[in-house]
Amino acid sequence: MPQRARNTPVCRDCDGFATAAITTGTRHTDGTRATLTVTCPTCKGTGHTLPAAGLARAGR
Ligand SMILES: [Zn+2]
Repeated sequence: MPQRARNTPVCRDCDGFATAAITTGTRHTDGTRATLTVTCPTCKGTGHTLPAAGLARAGR
């Protein structure tokens, strides 16, 4: 069942690291590194889980 929610529930899937830049090892022609940015599909890059509808009002 739902745990006691903290103020900012961190996404359990990515542990708050919603986006991760992965260095591919290649470089663009301008010298910058080519990176792949992977966004957590669970929290959609926010790093926090979205409170379930209805659960947000359960506080008071
Ligand atoms: Zn996430």
